[in-house]
Amino acid sequence: MNKGLLIVISGPSGAGKGTICKALLEKHPEIKLSVSCTTRSPRQNEVEGINYYFITKEKFKEMIENDEFLEYAEVYDNYYGTPKANVERILNEGNDIILEIDIQGALKVKEKYPEGVFVFIMPPSMEELKNRIKKRGSETEESLIKRFKAAFQEINYVANYNYVIVNDVVEEAVKRLEAIIVAEKCRVDRLKGNYIFLQEGFLND
Ligand code: 5GP
Repeated sequence: MNKGLLIVISGPSGAGKGTICKALLEKHPEIKLSVSCTTRSPRQNEVEGINYYFITKEKFKEMIENDEFLEYAEVYDNYYGTPKANVERILNEGNDIILEIDIQGALKVKEKYPEGVFVFIMPPSMEELKNRIKKRGSETEESLIKRFKAAFQEINYVANYNYVIVNDVVEEAVKRLEAIIVAEKCRVDRLKGNYIFLQEGFLND
């Protein structure tokens, strides 16, 4: 059995990664989402075990020591990490999994899983990005400025990714992500020799 696809989605805060992933998962319940651990406090409407596992810094450190993370990073003064066991299990079961993580984390995952699919979500413009972060209303003025400044830096990392999607209209962005996943599944180098049956089929015709 072929392993599932490991799909990593990054992009600046406000680019719309979360919205795109949510829409994709609604259309494709067979694709799983990796739930990260974080030391930041939950926002309104965020649910433990669905959006994140909200844990203390002490617990986070303990998990680092026990090598429980595939990757982890400090983002905007909080720690975020991808629990390893879940990702490995889902891939080994042949299912696809999405990691919505920051660039530092994505680069670490790329070292461990170079066969992963790395997708960068871009805002249509920096002005629009600013509006989106403001509209979310969940950030303090200080955090907003921090996220906006970070966005400028982050956009330079797009070259480390395999694909870029400009998120102007969400439905279009989701269609592009679906197309990327379909194309990746058709790649000959992912079939690991399983294409022999295709050749036999051709010979018998
Ligand atoms: P937020 O606080 O807005 O939920 O997330 C802040 C940033 O942390 C986002 O760029 C998000 O993609 C990233 N992030 C969320 N989970 C993880 C994770 O497990 N690892 C890393 N490296 N970044 C994460």
